[in-house]
Amino acid sequence: MNSADFRSHAHDLVDWMADYLDGVEEFPVKAQVRPGEIAGRLAGSPPDAGEPMATILADFRAVIVPGMTHWQHPSFFAYFQANSSRPSVLAEMLTAALAAQCMMWETSPAATELEGRMMEWLRQMIGLPEGFVGSIQDSASTATLCAILAARERVSAADGVGVNETGMNDLGVVTAYCSVEAHSSVEKNVKIAGLGRANLRKIPVGGDFGMLPADLDRAIEADLANGCRPACVVATVGTTGVSGFDPLRAIGEVCRKHDVWLHVDAAWAGNALVLPEMRWMIDGVELADSFVFNPHKWLFTNFDCSALYVRNPAEFVRVFDILPEYLKTRDGSSVTNYRDWGIQLGRRFRALKLWFVIRSYGVEGLQRLIRSHIEMAHSLAEDIEMAEDFELLRPPVLSLLCFRFRPNGADEQSLDEINERLLQTINDSGKLYVTHTRINGTYAIRFVVGQTSTEPRHVWEAWTTIQDLARDLQPAGRSAPD
Ligand code: PLP
Repeated sequence: MNSADFRSHAHDLVDWMADYLDGVEEFPVKAQVRPGEIAGRLAGSPPDAGEPMATILADFRAVIVPGMTHWQHPSFFAYFQANSSRPSVLAEMLTAALAAQCMMWETSPAATELEGRMMEWLRQMIGLPEGFVGSIQDSASTATLCAILAARERVSAADGVGVNETGMNDLGVVTAYCSVEAHSSVEKNVKIAGLGRANLRKIPVGGDFGMLPADLDRAIEADLANGCRPACVVATVGTTGVSGFDPLRAIGEVCRKHDVWLHVDAAWAGNALVLPEMRWMIDGVELADSFVFNPHKWLFTNFDCSALYVRNPAEFVRVFDILPEYLKTRDGSSVTNYRDWGIQLGRRFRALKLWFVIRSYGVEGLQRLIRSHIEMAHSLAEDIEMAEDFELLRPPVLSLLCFRFRPNGADEQSLDEINERLLQTINDSGKLYVTHTRINGTYAIRFVVGQTSTEPRHVWEAWTTIQDLARDLQPAGRSAPD
């Protein structure tokens, strides 16, 4: 493609992107396609000769777009959002044009120094204590893996050498801890880190879904008594299913007592810390060794962008640094080389979109949006509570709530099945997208407000649609009259 063609197509694409974001509401939120349908429309083999960009773009519109779930749709209330914004998209366009590989200072000095500054801005914005130093990772899953690897090294280095040097042969049983509500990435990471799934202790939660610190203490004591080596506790601020909050101070004190690494997973809820009134969520965070949250979930910065903070960078970097001849540079250790802060060598320039977003909205603009999401969730909860045939199962603390349809006369057993069907019907309508969870075994519809362009009218329309579809539901096994 020559420069003139690039310029012309780029202009067209910017128009397409602007129209898409303006009109995203016109699409069904969840892709209305069957498995294999899109693959069936793609060429089975690559083209021998290059094709005109106009043809490729036409196929993008005709084949790809209909097969997409529209995460930027204002009626996307599923999972946790991966919200974006126009300033973020602009920055990503520049990132793609620069196409820099930001593995170390020398390969992209501005990217490295901007990343350092953005991590400091974010630290101030969310009220993390001074001394926490951050880097950008691709995801909270990776960030938590890094923390577990650092914790594994700490516990093994207590003997002198450390597992990084000698491997795990003589390590014995290393244990990790999280609550029963923690994200699945903790268990996955414990497997990857070689600790073994059986050595992850899932600590019970109290009525408010927060981990019980006394149970954690007892579990660590029992492991020590059995000759195990407790390495890491992962505490969650804003659990995925129901938005529970582990009490960091009490957990941190248990960790200090036993010299166990405390990692805090605040992947979603951490974004709400831009609101000073929400800082209660991290009371005691100064006792943590590491902390992660995802601006790509709820800070209008498109995927991927995960902010990982550590209290002692030297202890952390020691786990990841490695210096082959071909990576040696004149500036050496006098500069920050983020390749030593995680698993990847090659790194994307992710700080640019944060810089664009934070400067474009300002902290007050970001606070306004997040506050509005929380208000919308609370207002919906009030409506649900007033509806006689619905039951609020988890009121929102932030902007996540859970509920179920509870028609008159339905017995407890059939309610799960009714709500499962209701969820499918809602999502098949294309009007909104929600997901589910189980609360103490009960099937619940889970609703999160957090999309950049969501306004109260979208939540209201969603609630109206849910009620209409619920009341039209036929009891199982009975078909609609002709
Ligand atoms: N931790 C929590 C609490 C989450 O809710 C999620 C995802 O929703 C994750 C971790 C995983 O995040 P990522 O997709 O960035 O790995």
